[in-house]
Amino acid sequence: MFVRRGFRVLWVPLIASVMLAGCGGGSERARIPEKEPIYETPRLSERELRQCMADLRAAEVKYDPLPDRNFGGGCSAMDSVKLLDVGVPVANLGAMQCPLARTFAQWAFYAAMPAARKFLGSELVKIETMGSYACRNVNGASTGRLSEHAFANAVDVAAFILADGRRVTVTSGWHGSSDERAFLRALHQSACKRFQTVLGPDYNRAHYDHLHFDMGRGPYCR
Ligand SMILES: [Zn+2]
Repeated sequence: MFVRRGFRVLWVPLIASVMLAGCGGGSERARIPEKEPIYETPRLSERELRQCMADLRAAEVKYDPLPDRNFGGGCSAMDSVKLLDVGVPVANLGAMQCPLARTFAQWAFYAAMPAARKFLGSELVKIETMGSYACRNVNGASTGRLSEHAFANAVDVAAFILADGRRVTVTSGWHGSSDERAFLRALHQSACKRFQTVLGPDYNRAHYDHLHFDMGRGPYCR
């Protein structure tokens, strides 16, 4: 009995962290080395977190608040929420630190939805992402600095579904028809005014299929 309980206590958190890491990992995912420097996750004050959640509610964003989690290896999801609907549903999101979630919701509402109307002549009905939290290094490298994804402070956007049935992906649209190119570049430019770091297909090969937004160091727009 005692042994079984010990087993569960030991392994349940580890399994949970592996599953979560898979959500946003994709091909960029890499093993985090065993020996890690101590990372200081930036934290919000209680007042800042309350204000951030109030801002989400005021914007009628649907979200679940998440408990603070420390996944080891420097990876954590503190002061985080899971966004469910930002005016349109968003697929594949995990934990996002609240200020990232708030900025993402603003970008979706004030940039993505109007841009779909303007450049594609149809309503945006869904945003597809490749996830937010993932315990990995920058660019999925085996050494180096932890990615902002490892702090639930980054999101990768992959595609947009329109009311007319069209699906515009970063992979094909970035170099696609003129309206899709204009749409995606408008979203990229708008993101650069809102997030700290924005990386797209022009940055490097690892970003051929998504736009990376984070609230870490910056400003950087590429
Ligand atoms: Zn990313």
